[in-house]
Amino acid sequence: LATQVGAQMASGLDLLGVVHRSAAGLRRFLALRDETEAAAATVPDAPAPMTVGGGLRLESIGFTYPGAAAETLHDIDLELPAGHSVALVGENGAGKSTLIALLLGLYAPTRGRLLVDGIDLSGVSPQQWRTGVAALFQDFAKVELSLQHSVGIGHLPEVESREAVLGAVGRAGAGPLADRIGGPDALLGRAYGDGPDLSGGQWQRIGFARTLMRRRPLLLALDEPASALDAMAEQRLVDAYQAMAKEVAVAVGGVTLFVTHRLSTVRLADLIVVLEGGRIVERGTHGELMTLGGQYAQLYAGQARAYAD
Ligand code: ADP
Repeated sequence: LATQVGAQMASGLDLLGVVHRSAAGLRRFLALRDETEAAAATVPDAPAPMTVGGGLRLESIGFTYPGAAAETLHDIDLELPAGHSVALVGENGAGKSTLIALLLGLYAPTRGRLLVDGIDLSGVSPQQWRTGVAALFQDFAKVELSLQHSVGIGHLPEVESREAVLGAVGRAGAGPLADRIGGPDALLGRAYGDGPDLSGGQWQRIGFARTLMRRRPLLLALDEPASALDAMAEQRLVDAYQAMAKEVAVAVGGVTLFVTHRLSTVRLADLIVVLEGGRIVERGTHGELMTLGGQYAQLYAGQARAYAD
């Protein structure tokens, strides 16, 4: 395993920088991973993608970066039940990116265990665990193909049936849309001249349906500023996105992890985990943590003030 983790290190280091800076790089990273995976799907002995299980469990995890003198994460105990959405919150340097890197399998914990559906990840290759992760982007690529191909793209032929695609479309709340535009063979977007041009929210649902085709144990919900939109439209898109990310968590039965710097987008999470100095200092719902009046309430008030300015 040491060599496998070592082999992943270069991309791991990239990703760590990327998580700090923006979701755009993480998108590129995961897109690359997806391409590799799609290519690997044609190889007979490629690992089967990991499927949804009973959630993730972090047991007394400690983590020290290779070559670093001090430990970065300390005594992380966390239960992430399937079907739940979770947001990681904390000031810069609190350890969010590091914890995400562990969850992505880019590094192995130095102490403790990371269990997926009761299976210790130290016995699973990083490549295989990577097949267990999918990302939900706020700003989905507009794949201007037929609905069938736009949703089924990149999937193995056996799951790419019309029934599977329509099932995912329905679970993503786009069933009425699919009926209206004429079913799986309808061409999306304006690429073909007279195809229906979908709204931002409708493209999101198509993108969510694409993600739903992959029943992954861990979904990253990435929230990126939609700079082309006005503030009101952006807020509506973010609200719709959050609500959908939660629906997807339930529909897939995986754990959705919100990756965001904006506290206004974590309110809907079933569980908010506050990190400080590499430790979990608070956990609970938005309401519980606001009532507690601790670190989260302070961060929230500070960000609300910053946005009001
Ligand atoms: P956050 O994402 O919450 O801003 P990070 O997980 O990036 O926090 O950082 C947590 C701590 O780990 C910081 O003190 C940071 O300096 C340290 N750190 C981050 N990356 C590395 C690295 N590659 N090597 C050593 N220390 C690191």
